[in-house]
Amino acid sequence: MTTPNTFSASAGSLTQFDPQALPVSAAQAIVLEWVTPLAQSERVPLRDALARVLATDVISPIDVPAHDNSAMDGYAFDGAALARHAGTLTLTVAGKAFAGHPFMGTVPAGACVRIMTGAPMPAGCDTVVPQEGVAAQAADSSDGTATITFPADALAPGANRRRQGEDLARGGVALRAGRVLRASDIGLMASLGLVDVEVKRRLRVAYFSTGDELRSPGQPLDAGCIYDSNRYTLGAMLRRLDVEPIDLGRVRDDPEALAATLRQAAESADVVLTSGGVSVGEADFTRTQLQTLGDVAFWGLAMRPGRPLAFGRIWSGGRAGVGRAALLFGLPGNPVATMVSFYQIVRPALIAMSGATPQPVPLIPARCDAPIRKRAGRTEFQRGIAERDARGQWRVTPTGSQSSGALSTMSEANCFIVLAHEAADLDAGDTVDVMLFDGLV
Ligand code: AMP
Ligand code: MG
Repeated sequence: MTTPNTFSASAGSLTQFDPQALPVSAAQAIVLEWVTPLAQSERVPLRDALARVLATDVISPIDVPAHDNSAMDGYAFDGAALARHAGTLTLTVAGKAFAGHPFMGTVPAGACVRIMTGAPMPAGCDTVVPQEGVAAQAADSSDGTATITFPADALAPGANRRRQGEDLARGGVALRAGRVLRASDIGLMASLGLVDVEVKRRLRVAYFSTGDELRSPGQPLDAGCIYDSNRYTLGAMLRRLDVEPIDLGRVRDDPEALAATLRQAAESADVVLTSGGVSVGEADFTRTQLQTLGDVAFWGLAMRPGRPLAFGRIWSGGRAGVGRAALLFGLPGNPVATMVSFYQIVRPALIAMSGATPQPVPLIPARCDAPIRKRAGRTEFQRGIAERDARGQWRVTPTGSQSSGALSTMSEANCFIVLAHEAADLDAGDTVDVMLFDGLV
């Protein structure tokens, strides 16, 4: 390509890039600069809050636990008695305390209370001797008193007691805004007595496929045609991210049809994803439409698969600044390239735009079983199968085909082998970084 690739940062500065040379890390940084996190939020019941993004800090309205309570089934007593008894300590049992049924009386000196796990500590008691550690004597039939005996040096004052507010103190931050809510967070908010929670509204993401050769599953496959798989892959990847997917169907390789669908998408969505038509072929119109309808940030990456990738902003009004704006990712049409571009470039942007605090996906060092051909100057994401060997070391085998059209190898793989921008050919036995699909896909 002779035309230089240009991008304008949000501040409006214009920098020139060779499309072959825009490294993945630079593209990821530019994309995040263009992202504005969602401002709008809504209240949802706790049971609907899983995977939603917390809009405000959750402040604990109560102490958790609400009272000092026992961590064991045993006997609660005043731990000061321990210091006064060098050998064994014998206490009379003054009553019982159950979780939900506290002991309300006073505990006289030399007495204890039979206590169950979670029951509030009776007034004046701060220590619990577990029932396994005592010799208990059955109640005396004449006056009904039972006694327990245990070695005083086996315990310190305060043992086996959970303090009020030890989990969460009233007024403290229980969960921070920007968190993607997990099962434990839902339970934690329930433990605070909250019934609903303020979360960001869902990001609306419109997507469609382009290509005259595409047919939808269920239709007959005409000569020279293929089934549209990208729209299904994209819909599924979006659902995993808990955004609101808007399926705009298939669009012909026709500039007018493409422009009309892009404008409609910008009207209804925050982000627009397209697949296909983004390289430099005669039926590739996405990039030129992006230039007409808005601003182009970049249209080529030093990445494999996924070199052609158009990124920018389009406007529903037909040109920059008119109507409603949406970010546009013009993804490559090859099915594996679509997925790699989504995970490496689109996914972090959608997470940031949803208002979540992005968390880097962990990379695991693994010994590669096979040599890998790699050209320095681009980041490669090969499909691999990683496992731990008998010695507990991670090893990885590239899947047979690394063709960007071979979707079956994405299904076969369980990780990306991430080959850094500057890396060159690798020998069998070299260490590579592996990005496990679990947690990513
Ligand atoms: P393009 O970038 O439009 O030239 O597409 C590159 C390759 O990906 C071509 O072989 C297309 O047929 C194929 N392709 C494009 N879109 C899709 C799709 N939605 N599903 C499956 N394959 C596609
Ligand atoms: Mg095409």
